Amino acid sequence: MKHQHIVVIGGGASGLLSAIIAKRNHAQVTLIERNPKLGKKILATGNGRCNYTNQQTHAEHYNHPDFVQHALEVFGAKKTIQFFEKLGISPRIEDLGKAYPMSEQASSIVDVLVYEVEQLGIKVMCNAKVTQVIKKPNGFTSTLSDGQQIESDKVILATGGKAMPGSGSDGNGYQIAESLGHSITALFPSLVKLKLNSPYLKQMDGVKIQGTVQLLDQNQVIQSEQGDILFTSYGISGPTILQISRKANEMLLEHQDVKLKVIMLNQMTKEDIERRFQLMQDKPLELSLVGLVHKKIIPAIIKEAGIPNPSIRFSQLTPKEKSKLMNLMFDWRFKVIDSKGYEDAQVTAGGVRIDEINPLSMESRIVPGLYMTGEILDIDGLCGGYNLQWAWSSAYLAGKHASI
Ligand SMILES: Cc1cc2nc3c(=O)[nH]c(=O)nc-3n(C[C@H](O)[C@H](O)[C@H](O)COP(=O)(O)OP(=O)(O)OC[C@H]3O[C@@H](n4cnc5c(N)ncnc54)[C@H](O)[C@@H]3O)c2cc1C
Repeated sequence: MKHQHIVVIGGGASGLLSAIIAKRNHAQVTLIERNPKLGKKILATGNGRCNYTNQQTHAEHYNHPDFVQHALEVFGAKKTIQFFEKLGISPRIEDLGKAYPMSEQASSIVDVLVYEVEQLGIKVMCNAKVTQVIKKPNGFTSTLSDGQQIESDKVILATGGKAMPGSGSDGNGYQIAESLGHSITALFPSLVKLKLNSPYLKQMDGVKIQGTVQLLDQNQVIQSEQGDILFTSYGISGPTILQISRKANEMLLEHQDVKLKVIMLNQMTKEDIERRFQLMQDKPLELSLVGLVHKKIIPAIIKEAGIPNPSIRFSQLTPKEKSKLMNLMFDWRFKVIDSKGYEDAQVTAGGVRIDEINPLSMESRIVPGLYMTGEILDIDGLCGGYNLQWAWSSAYLAGKHASI
């Protein structure tokens, strides 16, 4: 039986895993990475700890559940944890499912993958950027930026998306895919901090609250997330915001009015607040709010309620002022104007159209012998280990099928 020669373009998460699977399946594998070292982006994942999967992974955590279903069934979270355990990664499970290496070092994931690549005898070419891939009748020619040409039977395109372009994933892979006849959907950053238009950002910079944030479309709540919300000098961040950012950015792309509703006091009722205000009747307003909301928020919320004198006694407020103040605790609206962009994003939404890819093998339906994995495809997941899981799952299928 002829052993396939497979060129894997991109030595990130999905490139590394697909190269390993293909080589274990007796293919001859050449792994090409433009950076001096393999796995650069992995080092930045999970705040340097690498949230490499999530035990709760489900197709619904992705933008195209039907497309990812098969890959997750074949190589889902359980298989991923087993795969990495065999390489030496003991899992540390947090928040009911997020898996990290016990060492709490993302570098452990890179180290064990690179060791396995070396052990298997995979040919690795670093500092090598592929600029062109041409399909020939019996295979492919990949050309590097120095003019060198590499022939292969199959190609796995694992060049990632556009998020964190300094990692080497700067979107150039989309051009390679396009030149081979593929189409790319609209691209936008996801799992990213959001910029707001608000006069209070400077004074609220650094304030972290535990609350609820809701994304509104014409006053209708379309997504609601509970947890840490962090105000910054440019806008808003925190896990809640990252989860909401995909939909918010999609709406911005469609030039829609994007508003966030922040519920600061989600553990209290309006009655609780009324009782508190009764107790604080004779205090200056700004002091009456101390102990209820963060100190840096107090001047902002008083201003937003249209109360000119922050030292006025609570009892002197008009009923309208009182009700406005009260409402802001449970419904403070902010206009989203942009995101922090690809530099700050964890993932790219959009990519190679999935109807051009066979979900059972990750092979192109346009160019037989060409496979694509990970973020280059129009697949992205929520925050929590799901994007790396997609990289591993798609890589497993591509590595397996390309080597046949
Ligand atoms: C800061 C940050 C934190 C993250 N944290 C998490 C997390 O904790 N959990 C999680 O699930 N996901 C996380 N992600 C997302 C996750 O890292 C990506 O979705 C995943 O790495 C995508 O894998 P990939 O193989 O498609 O691409 P990448 O890992 O981006 O790899 C692509 C590789 O291809 C190389 N390359 C590109 N073009 C060429 C070329 N022309 N020639 C040769 N080489 C090329 C690049 O240099 C790069 O090494 C995070 C992302 C970021 C930016």
